[in-house]
Amino acid sequence: MKLLVVGAGLFGATVARERALKGDAVDVIEKRDHVAGNIYTENVEGIQVHRYGAHIFHTSNQAIWDYVNQFADFNRYTNEVIANYKGQIYNLPFNMNTFNKMWGVITPAEAQKKIAEQRAILADKKPENLEEQAISLVGTDIYKKLIKDYTAKQWGRDPKNLPAFIIRRLPVRYTYDNNYFNDAYQGIPKAGYTHIVERMLDQPNINVQLGTDFFANKETYLDNYDKVIFTGMIDQFFDYQLGTLEYRSLRFETEILNVNNFQGNAVVNYTDADTPFTRIIEHKHFVFGKGNDRKTVITREYPMAWSRGDEPYYPVNNSENNQLFTKYRSLAKEKAPQVAFGGRLGLYRYYNMDQVIAAALQFLNGGFFGDTSK
Ligand code: FAD
Ligand code: UDP
Repeated sequence: MKLLVVGAGLFGATVARERALKGDAVDVIEKRDHVAGNIYTENVEGIQVHRYGAHIFHTSNQAIWDYVNQFADFNRYTNEVIANYKGQIYNLPFNMNTFNKMWGVITPAEAQKKIAEQRAILADKKPENLEEQAISLVGTDIYKKLIKDYTAKQWGRDPKNLPAFIIRRLPVRYTYDNNYFNDAYQGIPKAGYTHIVERMLDQPNINVQLGTDFFANKETYLDNYDKVIFTGMIDQFFDYQLGTLEYRSLRFETEILNVNNFQGNAVVNYTDADTPFTRIIEHKHFVFGKGNDRKTVITREYPMAWSRGDEPYYPVNNSENNQLFTKYRSLAKEKAPQVAFGGRLGLYRYYNMDQVIAAALQFLNGGFFGDTSK
């Protein structure tokens, strides 16, 4: 088969590789000037810099961990995030260290009691939005200092108007454990993420063209390939004819500093309303300070409203947008049966890297012509 993969991110690279191994001729087009999509990393001053924000690989799926380990040697990095609220430092995710700093409690029972008291304002109501979910999980003090303003900055809206699942991404633990994730496997690829994607695409029957936008020649591409795997925005594919899906964008401000150690941790979140960025990442700490002992590279992450032409980093999965997405899926089945939509943008889902690989492999195993989201 002659296949076109639109987008050289993790979803596109996984599909391209597996189909190439089966003998298909695969053309990959990518509008950016590099492969790897948002997981792209580049060497700056001997430090692997995550150009599109901090990326930590974590999964509980053994098959996915084995799969990605074919292409990379991972270190044993564990993400332990620091929150800075007006100069006060707290550990994330929400755990006994956070509760101790917030209230002086020592035991899990004391922390549970404090949270139960604060949760009482919900009066046993089932949490229906991010604010209620957060208060139900960790109480009002933590909500006010560590969640409310960070979330409003990140998503550009009141947490009352956001789905509850977003805050459930973060563990709540009654142990003194600062690991940001609950997964069995976690790490950073020592040679960077770009190297993973380069290795995946390194097949004789895969041809990659960078700096090439599908929409510059949409009809020609659709005519010339047996099947198209599209990992860009599904609403853009249909020229926004049913309406525009909402996304959230980001601006990254990266600086090289002439100091060895700027903030002592890879990720520091700024959870107050006045600081305009959400977090600063110091890239060298993902690989334990290796690479350069005179300089460091930091990136501030500023959330931004998205409008057409901006990079769509996050889908905004509230019910209106999810309903609109469902309509686009129906349109896709009817009007573009030879196109499979995949990845964070094609499926309009807040996917992590492991979920993207899993979705791609499932799609391939499911006979390859079916639904990419099953
Ligand atoms: P993408 O990486 O977006 O790739 C899609 C590609 O398609 C892009 O390269 C794009 O340029 C290209 N494209 C789009 N339209 C066109 C077109 N018209 N023509 C040609 N090319 C096109 N996941 C984790 O597991 N751990 C983390 O710590 C983590 N941190 C994250 C932090 C941030 C700030 C963000 C935004 C995401 C994070 N993720 C994390 C999620 C991770 O980035 C995604 O799961 C993954 O990159 C999605 O891969 P993808 O192939 O679906 O999409
Ligand atoms: N969050 C928060 N305070 C923090 C970190 C996260 O309120 O210090 C909330 C916020 O709503 C965010 C969500 O938790 O969107 C998920 O956080 P995560 O770190 O998983 O976000 P991502 O890395 O995907 O941007």
